[in-house]
Amino acid sequence: MKSETTNGRCKDLDKCIELLNLIIDNEALPEEESFIDEHLENCACCLKQYEVEKEFRSLLKRKLEHREVPIDLIVSIKNKIASTH
Ligand SMILES: [Zn+2]
Repeated sequence: MKSETTNGRCKDLDKCIELLNLIIDNEALPEEESFIDEHLENCACCLKQYEVEKEFRSLLKRKLEHREVPIDLIVSIKNKIASTH
């Protein structure tokens, strides 16, 4: 498995997001994890996506736990999502 980046945009973005989600859910295989580890070092696009997903999850978790979601967190996620597209 190897992916290249063109103009800072990952050409396997869909595939990467799928793997990133598996990793966040702790459902990724060891080889998928090492692939993403390596990939994120070279792919700023996916690294950003990973951060957004992680923050998004923590926001969802807080909501499920009926905890207050800091406005800063919401704003930072919105900004990240907006700058990704
Ligand atoms: Zn990528």
